[in-house]
Amino acid sequence: MINGNGLVQSFEQGHAGMKMELGGKGANLAEMTRAGLPVPPGFTITTQACRDYYASGEQLPAGLMDEVNVALRELEKKQNKQFGDAACPLLVSVRSGSVSSMPGMMDTILNVGLNDVTVHGVAEATQNPRFAYDCYRRLIQMFGNVVFGIEPIRFEKLLHEMKTSCGVEHDRDVSAEGWKQLVDRYKELIASKSGKPFPQSADEQLQLAVEAVFRSWNNSRARVYRKVNRIPDEQGTAVNIQAMVFGNKGDDCGTGVVFTRDPSTGEKQLYGEYLTNAQGEDVVAGVRTPLPIAELERDMPDVFASLKHTAERLERHYRDMQDIEFTVEHGTLYLLQTRTGKRSAQAAMKIGVDLVDEGILTKEEAIARIEIGHLDQLLHPAIPADAVLDVLAVGLPASPGAATGEAVFDADTAEEKAKAGRRVILIRSETTPEDIHGVLAAEGVLTSRGGMTSHAAVVARGMGKPCVCGCEEVRIDADTRELRAGETIIREGDSISIDGSTGRVIRGEVPLRAGEMSAELSRLLEWADGIRTLRVAANADNPADAAKAREFGAEGIGLCRTEHMFLAPERLPAVREMILAETKEEREAALVKLLPMQQEDFEGMFRVMDGLPVTIRLLDPPLHEFLPNADELRARAAELAADIRSGGDSSGELRSQAAELETMLRKVRSLHEANPMLGQRGCRLGVLFPEIYDMQTEAVFRAAAVCIREGVHVWPEVMVPLVGHVNELRFLRGRIEHTAENVLGELLSRCPYKVGTMIEVPRAALTAAQIAECADFFSFGTNDLTQMTYGCSRDDAEGKFLTHYVDHKLLPANPFQTLDRDGVGQLIEWALEQGKAVRGDLKTGVCGEHGGDPESIFFCHQAGLDYVSCSPYRIPLARIAAAQARL
Ligand code: ADP
Ligand code: MG
Ligand code: MG
Repeated sequence: MINGNGLVQSFEQGHAGMKMELGGKGANLAEMTRAGLPVPPGFTITTQACRDYYASGEQLPAGLMDEVNVALRELEKKQNKQFGDAACPLLVSVRSGSVSSMPGMMDTILNVGLNDVTVHGVAEATQNPRFAYDCYRRLIQMFGNVVFGIEPIRFEKLLHEMKTSCGVEHDRDVSAEGWKQLVDRYKELIASKSGKPFPQSADEQLQLAVEAVFRSWNNSRARVYRKVNRIPDEQGTAVNIQAMVFGNKGDDCGTGVVFTRDPSTGEKQLYGEYLTNAQGEDVVAGVRTPLPIAELERDMPDVFASLKHTAERLERHYRDMQDIEFTVEHGTLYLLQTRTGKRSAQAAMKIGVDLVDEGILTKEEAIARIEIGHLDQLLHPAIPADAVLDVLAVGLPASPGAATGEAVFDADTAEEKAKAGRRVILIRSETTPEDIHGVLAAEGVLTSRGGMTSHAAVVARGMGKPCVCGCEEVRIDADTRELRAGETIIREGDSISIDGSTGRVIRGEVPLRAGEMSAELSRLLEWADGIRTLRVAANADNPADAAKAREFGAEGIGLCRTEHMFLAPERLPAVREMILAETKEEREAALVKLLPMQQEDFEGMFRVMDGLPVTIRLLDPPLHEFLPNADELRARAAELAADIRSGGDSSGELRSQAAELETMLRKVRSLHEANPMLGQRGCRLGVLFPEIYDMQTEAVFRAAAVCIREGVHVWPEVMVPLVGHVNELRFLRGRIEHTAENVLGELLSRCPYKVGTMIEVPRAALTAAQIAECADFFSFGTNDLTQMTYGCSRDDAEGKFLTHYVDHKLLPANPFQTLDRDGVGQLIEWALEQGKAVRGDLKTGVCGEHGGDPESIFFCHQAGLDYVSCSPYRIPLARIAAAQARL
């Protein structure tokens, strides 16, 4: 039954498919209720109510509380207790719950309904005043924090003072009297800070709690989390109101969190933590370091057995690893939440493969589920096994990967330093969701308290940041900005390293080695290869990168930038000679020196890519990039002039140096361009100085000939950059073919080479039909194509106005990262259609950053391109994304 406006719905009415309306928590509570699992009853206020609340300027929708009250009356009947009743009151939790899981980012209040009167009732009814006052102090603290915005630290301080004055160390040793005293202190704190007393009316508490949960949708950490995880701001949160069950009634009670599989490694075993005689927030907020779940098996074997059974059941039901919150009240197990568990990249791969092996998922489903970001992390750095380390302490390995950087002790400093380009490790005594911007900025996170299921550990895992937590051997002082481990002191700015895979905290910097392909990832990639149609090639400029690319599964080289081969120190003099040449003859003399070097490069590439195509782009950047910078030259010239004036040039050596410098400077000046990006570069160089491209193509075909004789299968593809008019390509193609014939001779038939062009000038895309007449392939150079389509240079745009545009939502994404479908995408589609109409077998692909971006890869697949080309480390990611694009 849906009440009134339908903004409230009991757990019995919903199901897992209703996440949009009920939020993830509410939908899953409903699903578990339906499945007959032991869930305390309750109801959900829909996300629609939250959207209405914001739409009307933070006003509760009319009639909402009436609907809530109707549902509350039903809950009272079920529980046989009344809300606000003096003798036997119903207590509820008021819990946030968004559509996409945002662990710990929003607020929840427990024990709502307690006041000075009902607390007596609870004490009497349970014969347990200690329990009653423990609940009451918790309510006031959460309420004070969430509703009145008073910092938790103020409550913690009073708690600490009370414990000191009572002479106890642990919460569990505090007496009823102690909690009672604390309740009074807390009430005074609220009255003095907010100017209002803690509300005694249960109904008022409930309404204020609901409003506060709505407001928590917009607290700063929730906003940051949404931004990072691309969760829409418009969704809003649901509110779950649920009868309380109590884990703090005694030693046969407790609360905890379990994952159905290990979220760090993916191992199939119950994994989690619990606390006896405690309420849920103690575990998830990381204020007390909990016990490993295995100890529950010893302490409460029956509860453990039914927890294990339930966990298996939930995993089969949801067909994925679950993260489950539970509470035990006098030996009875209750479930309070289940959701798909966040996991490390490594664990995600293992779980995916295992679920296929266990017959729970199909291969396609396993591939479709892969989070692309995880693949990035898998190839993440680790500490080499043989590194000599100064290990200071070992904490809990909360999120794998190693990180090294400067120690910082608060999130704001972490953010500042990271902005200044420094690598930092964020060190906190406990993990709090308030630190999210610092976690984001840091290379890794270290805490001395809190367990593996604490919110920040969960968040770090989700972001793929290495994290070590609960490292109790170290003492962290945020005021003095120091970490002490035994005799050692690490101060802010000192270098420190952490290993989130083993929990090690290490003094100083450590060498990191790149990540490796696991057996699970290899299997997933194989499955992906069976699904995808889009081919994946690599951008690689030297044989070593090409070898790495092949190891990662590259099906060829999509872009080999020859200019990188020119920049090696031993080659630069010959390159400069070529540029400084005044005549064609001089230039050719310099090119003759470069030829064998280029040939050697290409031989290396062909050998590594035996049997696969290698696309070689002829020289692209403006020549001045190979010359020294004008300011440096001028400074050096001034120095020389001064030396000469002071009479230090008896041999005339300085004078001849000065003359050389002058020539160089003249050339630099003459090559100066106002807009080098749009100047004399790419094929324009090839047209004006054909001998440069002639040398490069000669090197390509000589290398091909050598390799063919060795038995290597070579598939060279010569690519002409920056073509805007077909005549440019026609002219250059003629020369390339001529060179090929001359060099290859009778080997021509064994060298199936192609000549093609990059499509990176909008005019080339628009006139693709003409250009295709001279091209065997099109490679969309989407970096330049985006620059020229948007009319903005990437170097000037990123970090400046583009960032502003993306932050202010003028653009959905940075078009240099994610291909702009509407603009650049349209040009690509047009060029493809036009080009293919002229040449049915035209080969087409994308090179440039976009080739390694999942969303852009989806576009490439849909547009019907043959391949994408990306950097070697992104190849596994591109293989998976290409498969996902087909699913
Ligand atoms: P979060 O999203 O921050 O985890 P939750 O709403 O899940 O917030 O609640 C915080 C803690 O309180 C969890 O440990 C949860 O299990 C516990 N909790 C919530 N509702 C109840 C309840 N009705 N009875 C007992 N514990 C509860
Ligand atoms: Mg919470
Ligand atoms: Mg929770």
